Amino acid sequence: MSAFNVLITDVQCLNCRRQYSGRIQFKYGNAAFLQYHIGDTVKWGRNNIGNSDFKKVNVYGIAEADSCPLCDSDKIIEEFDIFIEDNVIIRITPMESIGLYLEGGSSEYVVMEMQIVPLFFRV
Ligand SMILES: [Zn+2]
Repeated sequence: MSAFNVLITDVQCLNCRRQYSGRIQFKYGNAAFLQYHIGDTVKWGRNNIGNSDFKKVNVYGIAEADSCPLCDSDKIIEEFDIFIEDNVIIRITPMESIGLYLEGGSSEYVVMEMQIVPLFFRV
């Protein structure tokens, strides 16, 4: 099994509608079982996935649990888009489409915007 990181954030159960603290696994940055919250800066190190130079990245996230800890229903959201901008975890939403990750090169993340290089020379 390869290493991953975990984003800990509130998620809402689709059955009981209550919020609970969810653990969302993802593979981006230094994949070393690190724990993150929304607003944290991605750490880089020995086992890097992605690149700290990327400006905007969508990262594939998957819930560790397969049922709600409050009502035990399996009607929960299991797949997420994790939005990272300038290496900061900005927000998380239910995943729109797995196709984005499958077609985007890496199945773990998609670069939405590369770093903007200043234009020093004008013709
Ligand atoms: Zn529930």
